[in-house]
Amino acid sequence: MSEPDAGPEFYEQGALVAVLTTQPLDRFLDYKAPEGGCFLGAFVEVPLGPRRVLGVVWGPGKGDFDISRIRAVQRVLDVAPMGADMRLFLERAAQYTLTPLHAMLRLATRAPGLSGPPSMRKIYRLGEGEPERQTDARRRVLETLRDYGGLSFTMGELAEMAGVTNSVVKGLVKQGVVREEDAPRDVPFMRLDPDYGGKALTEAQAEGAEALRVGVQSGTYGTTLLRGVTGSGKTEVYLEAVAECLRKGRQALVLLPEIALTSEFLTRVEARFGAKPAEWHSGVTITERRRAWKMVGQGGAQMVIGARSALFLPYRDLGLIVVDEEHDTSYKQEDGVLYNARDMAVLRASMASARVVLASATPSLESWTNAEAGKYEKLELTSRYGAAVLPEMRAIDMRVEDLPRDRWISPTLKRAVDKRIAAGEQALLFINRRGYAPVTICRACGHQVACDHCDARMVEHRFLKRLVCHQCGETKPMPDACPSCEVEGKLAPVGPGVERLAEEAEKLWPDARQAVLSSDLFGSARALKEGIETIANGGADIIIGTQLVAKGHNFPLLTLVGVIDADLGLQGSDLRAAERTFQLMRQVAGRAGRSEKPGQALLQTYQPEHPVIRSTLAGDELGFWRAEADERRIAGVPPFGRMAGIILSGEDVTQVFDLGNALARNAGILRAIGAEVYGPAPAPIARVRGRHRVRLLVKADKGAPLQAALAKWVGQFKLKGDLRLAVDIDPQSFY
Ligand code: ADP
Ligand code: ZN
Repeated sequence: MSEPDAGPEFYEQGALVAVLTTQPLDRFLDYKAPEGGCFLGAFVEVPLGPRRVLGVVWGPGKGDFDISRIRAVQRVLDVAPMGADMRLFLERAAQYTLTPLHAMLRLATRAPGLSGPPSMRKIYRLGEGEPERQTDARRRVLETLRDYGGLSFTMGELAEMAGVTNSVVKGLVKQGVVREEDAPRDVPFMRLDPDYGGKALTEAQAEGAEALRVGVQSGTYGTTLLRGVTGSGKTEVYLEAVAECLRKGRQALVLLPEIALTSEFLTRVEARFGAKPAEWHSGVTITERRRAWKMVGQGGAQMVIGARSALFLPYRDLGLIVVDEEHDTSYKQEDGVLYNARDMAVLRASMASARVVLASATPSLESWTNAEAGKYEKLELTSRYGAAVLPEMRAIDMRVEDLPRDRWISPTLKRAVDKRIAAGEQALLFINRRGYAPVTICRACGHQVACDHCDARMVEHRFLKRLVCHQCGETKPMPDACPSCEVEGKLAPVGPGVERLAEEAEKLWPDARQAVLSSDLFGSARALKEGIETIANGGADIIIGTQLVAKGHNFPLLTLVGVIDADLGLQGSDLRAAERTFQLMRQVAGRAGRSEKPGQALLQTYQPEHPVIRSTLAGDELGFWRAEADERRIAGVPPFGRMAGIILSGEDVTQVFDLGNALARNAGILRAIGAEVYGPAPAPIARVRGRHRVRLLVKADKGAPLQAALAKWVGQFKLKGDLRLAVDIDPQSFY
């Protein structure tokens, strides 16, 4: 849809305005500005049929509609208007990802209760007089309030600071000595002090920090790739850039993979700036989310740490975005709006004249290529902070290890773990497979238990006592008899998952304290965080984990990492498999020896001479990237060419293929820009939740106007019935 022309910044009552709503419409709607007028960018409630819906004033109305039937904006919400840079960002992001603009607006307004009245809460401050009967507890409450002058607190804060129960405070309220008042819940966050707790930086760190500071001071757009081995102090360095941003009075956003948003990280930020920043992720309560959203908009939050969707908050003046662990695949949203937060961060920053810092020990090939090409600045921290050194990496050649069937821990790895336990250190056994066993096979007929709705095998989870489809989440109890031949007692697990490995480890080291880290073993993000903290504090000798552990946690006692199956991920239809394996190995190995004790990483492999394994062991990142970049350049795939995946799905497989064929036949628009179309072919997972999936791949040169052509191409087709079409620009996974 075409955006309204630029218009005035303010609309008097009755003026026509174009409103973008969160409803699935492909156009702006005209309304009359309400009594009192409204600003461009104002969040408003407008009538739509019998309902009231949320929207944003996007520009002047078109007036191509019977004026007498145009209704008025019902209400302007009590939140800051959306800035011009944010509106432009949403438009560009919509164009880039081929997502309707209303869906983008929905992403940007995911704070429940925005249109509700301001929610209130009780606060407590000093009242009049003295209590009838003085007690120690009562005295402490009054002293606390006097210490803080006229400040007021919530019940929880006051009781905690004074070390009393709530009833003590309530008693004082009854006597009027403490006053209870209603106050808005959405209050600004505590001020952060950029000069509160900076560390003395090493020379290399100080240089890096200075370069980032200069960038922030410039007040212009720019992206820096901050590469540094795990533990080299990247966080310390980028927090200096945050500090500079705060000094300039602009807002800073630090994006982390959801799983790395630990209280440990928050504590670190608090130690640096003297107060907590705003948080934005799935663990944040609804009221806190709304508060963060509103305060970000009116400048009452200087810094946000959050997961990818924090990019869509309505910052008043965003000066810096840090994308930590920028290579992490969880930055790609694979549901709903398909976007990569790393790329969107760069887009957002360029609209806002802000800086971007992409931090990683193992950058993505995309970012590495951009840095090599001079599009990004490069900063490197080559050594670890303090005495910590990179772990020694070695392969264990599984072809010569003496290992009984259904065992996965080689004698060599076992001996290495023994040593660490004897020394009071921690060892991590890493396997990137959830559940007990990836395959369940019937020893009578050879049948492999598969999901009823997907083309995926069911994975046994002993912990849950069920079979689980990792594709659609379908679960069923573990059957006694084979679903195919009905012979009982012959179903057997094949291959290792994290649970099975834990079982083996328990037998090998019966006296060791063992912790298993796999996402499905924890009921909640909070429980997981607690588990991680317990490990960090030395509560386990052996840690058994999936890729959860590869994400930036700090385990000071950990000195050995054993990778059970380093070959996993070397084969596969995914163009990024090699890159992922390399990064994962390096990240996991980066867990070992973070503090004083030197670490070691052992990779069990059947292909020690494979280039990926070899460059991993050699720590030869440049070698790895060059080789990988060459392969991709020759193939013309990202980042040297552009790709888009088109996933069609529906219940009737013939209809889905018919649509796929029709698309392929009518691809003249794409061929006109030199793009090629492959498919239709069954998607790698050809059936999910009972829906058949068919995929087309489009490949184009780097400079080709791909999005515009794609939009026209798919726009030729009306989707009938339950058929769905999703466009995935720069697909990450090829599902
Ligand atoms: P990275 O982000 O590169 O993994 P961190 O910034 O987390 O590295 O640093 C690793 C550890 O070393 C952290 O505990 C950090 O506090 C500490 N550290 C790094 N640099 C310094 C410094 N200059 N002074 C004190 N401690 C530091
Ligand atoms: Zn399934």
